[in-house]
Amino acid sequence: MSNSPLVSYTRISPNRGNTINKVWKPERTRAIDTITIHCVVGQCSVETLGNVFAPTSRQASSNYGVGYDGKIGMYVEEKDRSWCTSSAANDNRAITIEVASDTKHPYAVNDKAYAAMLDLVTDICRRNGIKKLVWSTDKNKRMNHLDGCNMTVHRDYANKSCPGDYLYNRHGEIAAEVNKRLGATVDTPTKEDKPTPSVTSSVKAGDTVKILSGATYYNGKAIPGWVKNKKWIAREVSGDRAVIDKSEDGKNAICSPINTKYLSVVSAASTPSQSAWTPQVGDYVSFTGKVHYASSNSDREVSCKGGKAKITQIYTKGKHPYHLVNMGGGCTVYGWVDRSTFTKA
Ligand SMILES: [Zn+2]
Repeated sequence: MSNSPLVSYTRISPNRGNTINKVWKPERTRAIDTITIHCVVGQCSVETLGNVFAPTSRQASSNYGVGYDGKIGMYVEEKDRSWCTSSAANDNRAITIEVASDTKHPYAVNDKAYAAMLDLVTDICRRNGIKKLVWSTDKNKRMNHLDGCNMTVHRDYANKSCPGDYLYNRHGEIAAEVNKRLGATVDTPTKEDKPTPSVTSSVKAGDTVKILSGATYYNGKAIPGWVKNKKWIAREVSGDRAVIDKSEDGKNAICSPINTKYLSVVSAASTPSQSAWTPQVGDYVSFTGKVHYASSNSDREVSCKGGKAKITQIYTKGKHPYHLVNMGGGCTVYGWVDRSTFTKA
């Protein structure tokens, strides 16, 4: 087991390990399969965090820390169990990371620390054979590692706001960005899973469908329609309902047949009207801008390419109120943008 080469400061904390049958050992008792990101509640450096975790009276530590300046510190080696998440079960399987943050809600993290955290998480996944990060907004799924969920948060185990709403609300994005870097592919059903299509119906973009039992979600976002082996990407999934966006190949045509073993159409789409549209989180857009920003109030333009994207956050008070994430196909937007730079897809 190795540690991250991104570390530039090490100060091992005595607050680590497990005491089993009165014998203390520093090692973790389980293989690493989970990432737990915390907020420090302070824009501190990796050295300061080292001081915080140094006294035994503190009874706390983390495997890694990310300073406000993007530096990465290590306080408990990966092979050892940190005392970070108020749960021995979690900390024995998780790599815990404290990220410098504001001291008040939403405990925002600055761009440098956020970027360094993404690098660190990617490195941890690569070295530990975590092929894909899976986040869920469902506490039960997180705590019980259901559906492959392998990101947990401190607030599930203790009466705390950690990791703060700023980071909590970005966990989906963190997973998406790390997975992009890992080259994680979305799950492709195996041959045995492929049912024989039964021809009875068709779906088009905007239709609401009911997902019948047995249907396989794909990255939480898509439903297999089994139209010439093309899957349908769902725009919104809520319970067993989903809104169809497009077929996997991006061709937005009406497709027929669908496999009614897995889907049934609940309501057909009405024609969307551009003028009446109020952008919402989850909406797909055509991004025509050339720059994005790392935070909604940043003045630093970062070049990017236009194309198909999705709104993942809206912050109306920001200078650049819309956070877009590209949907591939050459588009590279991944940040905050102005309202004038996109239209409804
Ligand atoms: Zn925490």
